[in-house]
Amino acid sequence: MNIHEYQAKEVLKGYGVKIQEGIVADTPEAAHEAAVKLNAETGTSWYVIKAQIHAGGRGKGKINETGSNGVVLAKSLEDVSPKAKDILGGTLVTHQTGAEGKVVNKVLIAEDVYYPGDSEPKEYYLSILLDRASGSNVIMASTEGGMDIEEVAEKTPEKIIKEWIDPKAGLQGFQVRKVAFKLGLTGKAFKEMTKFIAALYKAYEATDSSQFEINPVLKTSDDKILAVDAKVNLDDNAMYRHPDLAELRDLAEEDPLEVEAGESGLNYVKLDGNVGCMVNGAGLAMATMDMIKLSGGEPANFLDVGGGANATTVEAGFRIILQDPNVKAILINVFGGIVRCDRIANGVVEAYKSIGDISVPIIVRLQGTNAEEGAKIIDESGLKVQSAITLKEAAEKVQAVLNG
Ligand code: GDP
Ligand code: MN
Repeated sequence: MNIHEYQAKEVLKGYGVKIQEGIVADTPEAAHEAAVKLNAETGTSWYVIKAQIHAGGRGKGKINETGSNGVVLAKSLEDVSPKAKDILGGTLVTHQTGAEGKVVNKVLIAEDVYYPGDSEPKEYYLSILLDRASGSNVIMASTEGGMDIEEVAEKTPEKIIKEWIDPKAGLQGFQVRKVAFKLGLTGKAFKEMTKFIAALYKAYEATDSSQFEINPVLKTSDDKILAVDAKVNLDDNAMYRHPDLAELRDLAEEDPLEVEAGESGLNYVKLDGNVGCMVNGAGLAMATMDMIKLSGGEPANFLDVGGGANATTVEAGFRIILQDPNVKAILINVFGGIVRCDRIANGVVEAYKSIGDISVPIIVRLQGTNAEEGAKIIDESGLKVQSAITLKEAAEKVQAVLNG
């Protein structure tokens, strides 16, 4: 689960991570008030206005309607509300949002930490994530902060420092010092960086996160180390342990169909193709998507209805797939192991009848326990549903449907 920058910064601050201070606002007037308050609290007279969306690249991104960037500097209090107005309600397109962009509902009004006239602000990159290959967390750091880190990793991999943390021993003091040293820091900045990394790691573990990315981490000319940006990715499977963090979820940032599927306990990912599919088991779902491609189609989604699929889950799955206007055919591919094929077949027929008015052709491939009985139920239902038993047969039927 992703959260917004302003939320991530609050979470980090709670664990002693130093941040660029800011106040969130959802109207130009509230942005002005936030700036007044920020001025009183921090003394800043320059402000940064930052679009809050679940995507990076905001600084270089543009608002469709006004041409404003997603991160802008206001050099006076009077400038804050008009600049916030150019961002709020607009559609921000960055290299991470896709061409359709994302609507900005909130802006973060932050203190300018690149002090006016500061000749030496230095941006670093810092992230913590789970390295599945080694089965441990890894801290990644670079002096090339503020840049696109994928590009740094590709062109100058030697500029990325990696420090793996033994899960049994935990993060050790010497490891933190090693990272700060490799970043070329000395004196007060070195010490501040070690405190920053240690606090960040503590926050990462305590929140059951799967990824933190702080880009940039800023070193000011007076050697403060601050998080200017913060991407926090929380582990969905751990959210039951963190009801306070679970509340930070912003459904407006998520695909509505994925939200609906989640509510029905379905594992659904929306894709761009024309053949919807509903499958039991993630592995079979992947194989089914391959099969759709081989038959000349493109999968419109990934949908795993799980091992205990029944009429209710099948119906929920159907409803979700049918809401996607790109879908030209639906392939249901179920292996009857624990759940018998005749039950699934009845579920499909019931769901079909209950939804009514389904105009896209449906191909149902049932294999496993009671496959023949299942196929018979489908074929005798009188509905516009075709049955298939082998994968090849199903693929050919999808192909035939796509070719009209
Ligand atoms: P991103 O583009 O979505 O990654 O958003 P960031 O939060 O990383 O901000 C983008 C850029 O805005 C940073 O790399 C900085 O160069 C700039 N920026 C952020 N905060 C400040 C600030 O306080 N003062 C100035 N002058 N620039 C800032
Ligand atoms: Mn950034």
